[in-house]
Amino acid sequence: MTADNENGHCNRVVSKSKPNPPPEMANSTIDDKCPSSYCMEIVWRNIFLMIILHVASVYGGYLGIFHARYRTVMFNYLYLILTGLGITAGAHRLWAHRSYEATTTLRIILMLFNCGALQNDILEWSRDHRVHHKFSETDADPHNSRRGFFFAHIGWLLCRKHPEVKNKGRTVSLKDIADDPVVQFQRRYYKPLATLFTFILPSIIPCACWNEDPIISIFASMTRYTLLLHATWLVNSAAHLWGNRPYDNGIQPVECKLVEIVALGEGYHNYHHIFPFDYSASEMTWLNDINFTTMTIDFLSWLGMVKNRKKVDHQTVAKRVQRTGNIQLYGLYQQQHQRSWWRHTPLTIMFMLFSPILALYIYRRFISYLYYLYFHIENRWP
Ligand SMILES: [Zn+2]
Ligand SMILES: [Zn+2]
Repeated sequence: MTADNENGHCNRVVSKSKPNPPPEMANSTIDDKCPSSYCMEIVWRNIFLMIILHVASVYGGYLGIFHARYRTVMFNYLYLILTGLGITAGAHRLWAHRSYEATTTLRIILMLFNCGALQNDILEWSRDHRVHHKFSETDADPHNSRRGFFFAHIGWLLCRKHPEVKNKGRTVSLKDIADDPVVQFQRRYYKPLATLFTFILPSIIPCACWNEDPIISIFASMTRYTLLLHATWLVNSAAHLWGNRPYDNGIQPVECKLVEIVALGEGYHNYHHIFPFDYSASEMTWLNDINFTTMTIDFLSWLGMVKNRKKVDHQTVAKRVQRTGNIQLYGLYQQQHQRSWWRHTPLTIMFMLFSPILALYIYRRFISYLYYLYFHIENRWP
């Protein structure tokens, strides 16, 4: 969903990220204060759509937990991961940062998964992301985290962009992405492709393949899409606010455990903002980190679909830490991550693929056991 809506209503909210006006201007009216003061325009259409989506998702979550077939839950969970890879391995690491090269077949597959994520087409997503990296934590950053958690997470999609985003955004080159025929094709047919891969196909497949109730299937799809949105948004909010900064103390992005897991390995954000061209978006790979996206890219490289993965060597990282980072914290961080590979790799696979279905199974068994106990006691009542 985009914030570029023409029906926005101006609420006269001056950006919090603007410096305070000088004392001599303190008594003037809001219009006199600063002719260029930012007037935040709320986009009510987007707020309405987000409310509808979230209400539908809560109902979808209820149906998923209590009524959906296990196969429907598993299908939606796997589809959530695949469409997540369309963002992390596709739009982010492949197109926005050019951190590795992919064959045409893989680019088509990632583009289709990206359509299922419905987060704007690859070109627009990459433009916002390059602007975010170049002008982090300024008015030109589309999801400027200095404006608070809510704005960085979802608020930036509920109002019109700050004029600086567009002004400074013009200085960011997108030619390399725009020249890709796969990106051009997606952009040309984005609306039908995104509708098909986000809602229509994932709603039809459970009904056609294992006779799922259509209502359950449709609402489960909404829940899956909403969960994906929040997982992606946490990179903009939590990974800029909640964590530590072993690589560079002077920047806002952090290493955030929660986001490492839910965003498929995109939580090593302090590192990523320093070395955005690193294909792993983290210093270490999936052998020492929980990084499902890197694991997938390495697997695709083994299949011959990926080449020229860019990686920063450890000496360069160590030099940077000496210059800008927290050496003590970095030492601790290294110790934690240098533990044997079996602590991370099986955990990554197990958590990513099996934990939700296992949790659901245990939960349903527990609920049915409670029901059994209740009726058992009821039947024996004199
Ligand atoms: Zn960031
Ligand atoms: Zn990035």
